[in-house]
Parts: sequence; C-alpha cells; structure tokens
Amino acid sequence: MNLVAGKNIVVMGVANDRSIAWAIAQSLASQGARLVFTYENERVEERVRKLADTIPNATILPCNVTVDADIDQLAESLREQFGVLHGIVHSIAFARTEELEGLFVNTSRDGFALAHDISAYSLVAVAQKLYPLMTEGGSIMTMTYLGAERAMKNYNVMGIAKAALEASVRYLANDLGQFNIRVNAISAGPIRTLAAKGIKDFNSILKTVEEKAPLRRTTETAEVGDTALFLMSHLSRGITGEVIYVDGGYHIVGV
Ligand code: NAD
Repeated sequence: MNLVAGKNIVVMGVANDRSIAWAIAQSLASQGARLVFTYENERVEERVRKLADTIPNATILPCNVTVDADIDQLAESLREQFGVLHGIVHSIAFARTEELEGLFVNTSRDGFALAHDISAYSLVAVAQKLYPLMTEGGSIMTMTYLGAERAMKNYNVMGIAKAALEASVRYLANDLGQFNIRVNAISAGPIRTLAAKGIKDFNSILKTVEEKAPLRRTTETAEVGDTALFLMSHLSRGITGEVIYVDGGYHIVGV
C-alpha cells in the first residue's frame, strides 16, 4: 500500500533521530510521501540535513516559528517547490526549564507568553500561511499531551499551552473544513526525547505509565508515526477537530 503516495507534506519539529517528528517522517516516507523538513536554527540544521538525506526526494528549509518572516518565506518556498501542499506535521513546543518544575503558580508573565507563542500560536500562524497552498484539500496535525486536561506534576505552563493548542485544533478544524482541510492532534504518552529532558522527574513519569497503562509499557515514537500516517492519509478522511490518544491507554485509567 502507498497510503500517502503523491502527497507533499511539510514536517516541522525534527531536532534529532529521537524526535517524534522524525518517526512520523519515516512512517510517511515508507508510504510514498514527498517531504520537506523545517528546522529551527543553524544549531540543528546539520543534524536535520543528515537525517533528511536518508529519505528519497526530501528537502529542508529553515523556519523559526516565532518569526513571521520565516513562516512567510516557508510558504513562498513551498509554493515554488510543490505548488500544492497536502499535509502539515506540527511537532513543536517549548517552555523554559525553570517553568517545568515546582509550582505552576510561580509561572512568570514572559514564560507563560513564550510557551504559548511557540507551543500553541505557532500552529495557528503556520496554518494561516500554508492553508492557501492546500488547494486539493489537506491534513494538518499537531502533538499534544495529557497535561492539557489534567494537572500533571512539573508539566505546569506547558499543560496550559497544550490546552490552548487543543482548543486551536478545534477552531482551526471548524474554519478549514469548508476547504476539505482537516486538523487533528495526537496525544502521545511520555517518550524520552530532547523536549522531555526539560521536564523534571521524567523517569518517574515513564515508570508510572509502565505500571498503570493498560498495555503496561511506554509509548514508542513509531506508534505515533503510524497514527500520524493514518491522519495524513485518505483513511482518516472523516476525522477532524479530534485528539487521538497514542498512550497505551493510560488516559482511561483511574488513579
Ligand atoms: P523534540 O525536542 O525532538 O522536538 C521539539 C521540536 O520543537 C524541536 O525540533 C525544536 O527544534 C522545535 N522547536 C522549538 N522551538 C521552536 C521554534 N521557535 N521554531 C521552530 N521549531 C522549534 O521533542 P519531541 O518530544 O519530539 O516533541 C515534539 C512534540 O511532541 C512537542 O509538541 C511535544 O510537546 C510533543 N509531545 C512530546 C511528548 C514526549 O513525551 N516526548 C509527549 C506528548 C507530546
């Protein structure tokens, strides 16, 4: 099966080979997608280029999502390179390490704003500039976490940003459905990545999932990748505005 053959998809959020976005890219590439990777800055450019080189026909473009001009330039480059865009994978988040421990009540004004700008508004900004390229319909997806719905230890301001992100998914889905563009989120269980390193006591979170999740194990990036493939493909054509859990069932269990 070539579930996404002929589809042009932009993948935002690869930092290294542990990134969830990288696993998503591999699932998409295995089913025939043509990929463009964006990278945050020169610090990660070389790593992203090396990874992209392992995927046939993949290219890379810069895009710091806090910079409007970068997103405009991305739209322009995609227009030149592809003409038509079919998919956007948004796998980007950031909060200051000091805001990811201790009490949420101590969150600073600028820490709150920064986390929301990068982790929630960036989805809106990217969708705004790229949806006009989705002239044949499309699929947009982002990554979220259970901390959007429950007060999870140390997740703090990122939980509030993820709640805004999930609400943005619903509003964007409602806006863009008329253009046959779907917008969804995957809520993944905890996975050891660069971003996860910023969260204090991450090991104990993984241990709790192993003990309590119905599947009695933690989530693998490849499982998220395959669900993203489903969301980018025709198979999910009736689904929009949804949060899909890829967490071994952890979110259904009572404490
Ligand atoms: P990661 O560190 O590999 O990915 C985060 C990405 O965000 C990096 O590629 C980084 O370059 C990018 N980024 C940060 N600021 C940016 C900016 N200003 N402009 C452009 N890119 C920027 O970690 P990950 O765990 O793969 O995270 C990907 C997504 O998955 C995030 O939204 C994260 O919140 C979410 N998520 C992660 C977990 C987990 O346990 N790892 C669980 C659920 C959801």
